[in-house]
Amino acid sequence: MGDETEKKLQSHAKVVIIGGGVVGCSILFHLAKFGWKDVVLLERNELTSGSSWHAAGQIHTISSDPNISRLQGYTINLYKEIEETSGHSVGMHNTGGFYLASNRDWYDYLKRERSKARYMGLDQEFISIEEAARRHPLIDPSHYMAALWDPLDGDIDPSGVTYAYAKAARVHGGTYHTHTPVLETNQRPDGSWDVVTEKGTINAEMIVNAGGLWAREVGHLAGLHLPVQPMEHHYLITEDIPEITQREERLPAGIDYEGNIYFRQERGGMLLGTYEPRATPWSLAGTPQDFGHELLEPKLDNIADRLEIGFARIPALGKVGIKNMINGPFTFGPDGNPMIGPVPGMKNYWVAVGVMAGFCQGGGVGLCMAEWMIDGEPSIDVWAMDVARFGDYASPDWGTVKSSENYERRFVMTFPNETLPKGRRQQTTALYDRLVARGAVMGDAYGLESALWFADGPDDAHEEATFRRSRAHDYVAKEVAGVREHVGAIEIANFAKHEFAGKDARGFLDHLLAGRIPAPGRLSLTPMLTEKGKLYGDLTVACLDDDHFYLFGSGVAQNMHRRWFERHLEGFAGDVRYANRSENWHGMAISGPKSRQLLSRLVREDVGPEALKFRDVRQTFVGGVPAMLLRVSFSGELGYEIYVAPQYQIRLFEAIEDAGADLGLRLYGGRALMSMRLEKNWGAWTLDFRPDFTAAESGLDVFIDWSKDFIGKAAAEAEAKAGPRKRLVTMTIETDGIDVSNDEAVFADGQAVGYVSSGGYAHHVGKSMALGYVPVEYADDGTALEVEILGELCPAKVVGRPLYDPNGGKMRS
Ligand SMILES: Cc1cc2nc3c(=O)[nH]c(=O)nc-3n(C[C@H](O)[C@H](O)[C@H](O)COP(=O)(O)OP(=O)(O)OC[C@H]3O[C@@H](n4cnc5c(N)ncnc54)[C@H](O)[C@@H]3O)c2cc1C
Repeated sequence: MGDETEKKLQSHAKVVIIGGGVVGCSILFHLAKFGWKDVVLLERNELTSGSSWHAAGQIHTISSDPNISRLQGYTINLYKEIEETSGHSVGMHNTGGFYLASNRDWYDYLKRERSKARYMGLDQEFISIEEAARRHPLIDPSHYMAALWDPLDGDIDPSGVTYAYAKAARVHGGTYHTHTPVLETNQRPDGSWDVVTEKGTINAEMIVNAGGLWAREVGHLAGLHLPVQPMEHHYLITEDIPEITQREERLPAGIDYEGNIYFRQERGGMLLGTYEPRATPWSLAGTPQDFGHELLEPKLDNIADRLEIGFARIPALGKVGIKNMINGPFTFGPDGNPMIGPVPGMKNYWVAVGVMAGFCQGGGVGLCMAEWMIDGEPSIDVWAMDVARFGDYASPDWGTVKSSENYERRFVMTFPNETLPKGRRQQTTALYDRLVARGAVMGDAYGLESALWFADGPDDAHEEATFRRSRAHDYVAKEVAGVREHVGAIEIANFAKHEFAGKDARGFLDHLLAGRIPAPGRLSLTPMLTEKGKLYGDLTVACLDDDHFYLFGSGVAQNMHRRWFERHLEGFAGDVRYANRSENWHGMAISGPKSRQLLSRLVREDVGPEALKFRDVRQTFVGGVPAMLLRVSFSGELGYEIYVAPQYQIRLFEAIEDAGADLGLRLYGGRALMSMRLEKNWGAWTLDFRPDFTAAESGLDVFIDWSKDFIGKAAAEAEAKAGPRKRLVTMTIETDGIDVSNDEAVFADGQAVGYVSSGGYAHHVGKSMALGYVPVEYADDGTALEVEILGELCPAKVVGRPLYDPNGGKMRS
């Protein structure tokens, strides 16, 4: 391999990538291809000296996140290009492959996948079981009820792919050095990094941790503790199987979810791998520096039951011997998806770690990283892979627990209403035990527990995992009725709170946010845009004083927003102090027609409609504790958000409960809130509002202040002039006992034209509803559409005006 090992290291580079596995090499390739030539990859040993060399090499497009699926499609389609550019074979076998369902639930799951694939441009189709058995005569069809075929699936040679990326990168002008371990990464005061090796030091404007199996150790060099964990993983290769050696055509690849196995042809035999139900995290204390091209001792007992299933479903496997048993480690992130992008709180430090399916995802990761570095933003929403979806709570210990859970659940179905059990109670508020005692079914987001819905006491607090409406449905209905008819209270610790102070804070926010910045004592809603006019936030701005502001937004996006704010503050000369205060403010929201009456019992001052107007904010005392009081609500009712420091949370809660008892106060959870906003046609961040869409497409352009200059204005103006091509619409859907669970295809005139971004049951108006993006010609009020739910096309209709309180009179009352 003719790399640049013998060459002297350069003293400066725009980017140094640490790690020559498939991920690092793909990033090098994409950066060089897109025009950044001053880019160097450093590899401690030979390329592919981590998990990349012993991968099973199976490739497929299916993923829980649609954008990751799309990027997996991109990755597979890229292989031809890197092979041609590099002249190095990637050993690709484009056999096609199928996902097999052996029970009803998995069949439903596959129907959902196919629905997603429709608008992602992926070509998945169901084939009959007979056809599946014809294409793969070794499977026993009696086990299966459905097969979803994807022509892109197949297998590659892992080492070939990695070298092809590296060599193709070199063709484009990139450089890599093998046998060059990075010993230190030290940041200079100017924000650049000195990357220290035995062969010299490179001063880099940016560095990328693509350390794979050593991601943790490479992170430690910069004081970063990543929540990723290598896991042991087995696959076996059989001796030659006569049915295969006698065939001319190569067998397709396959995944049998319930059987928990994946399989493909390997020379004259078969390769079969499994994600065992009890994960084995490898080397908790850290990956040894001298670990290289060795494998781990196979632990047959761990996978014996899975193999038995495999042998039953593919009987030919049991008739020949096992030639090779591989146990190799590879690194998982806490939710099984990669962690990529600039690390919040660090300058010029990027990661691309926890990539557990590097041969399916490596190309997409490289693409997004390169776009992000060069253009300042990736071309599609990478939220599902963004390192910022985790925060400080994501400790290495928590990472090990969650990574193990995700390993174990790789082929286990997660239903839309299911919450995962491990790593729970990582962050709780003072109310946790009380809410549970009152029957709360808790969920966690960004590591913080919050109530999803309330059962009739702790013994009743359970829910079956299902695609259809669960027993929670009737309880949520009662919560919604409580809010709509009387008054409800919900904990809102899980909203993000960002504080800006200083004499130039207003000027900074005015440029950062597309909407109007309110006067002291007032609130405004505003989109935040990228330079390309994509949504990067929908935020509530509170002006406490002319030089003091709070921004309220999505709790899970707090670290992503923090990174955005800090990045823009870097180039800002004025006096602005910023802090993410999400953990410093917990609180409760109360809403419903009797919420003013309840509030008036908790405060000394006048909170009448003239004294505390819709969109007023006040620093005051509520329930006898210092509070930030906002007159807004996400339920569509008259309502208030009351933020207090965490140590006052119990006092506030008790005060609300005591004062609300005779008003019919009902506690409600996140599900009821999400139901109520549906009948108001309101979108939510990460679902309906995200960087895949623009202000005009999402309808958030109504909040833009066109009279001022702001980030993304040129792009937003251009779009306003041309008109958006798609739009977010709200739909009612005719269904029976089931609602959308996001990502379903939307049909018009028999064609998939869009997709559902969120939805559920709107309890007050008694309708199944969804929000989704469709081409503008299908966005008018009353347009008849269809939504594909578990394979069935359900009639849907666009509702242009909210079904509940369309003029917002109740909220403003
Ligand atoms: C048994 C098994 C089967 C698998 N099957 C599949 C499959 O079928 N399909 C699929 O898509 N994926 C599969 N995978 C997963 C796949 O192998 C990984 O997703 C992929 O290898 C991750 O690549 P990476 O570049 O992130 O990490 P790695 O391959 O671990 O690369 C990291 C590199 O960084 C280098 N490095 C570390 N520290 C330093 C330092 N200080 N200085 C310089 N260099 C450093 C290392 O030497 C190494 O080469 C499998 C993995 C295993 C173990």
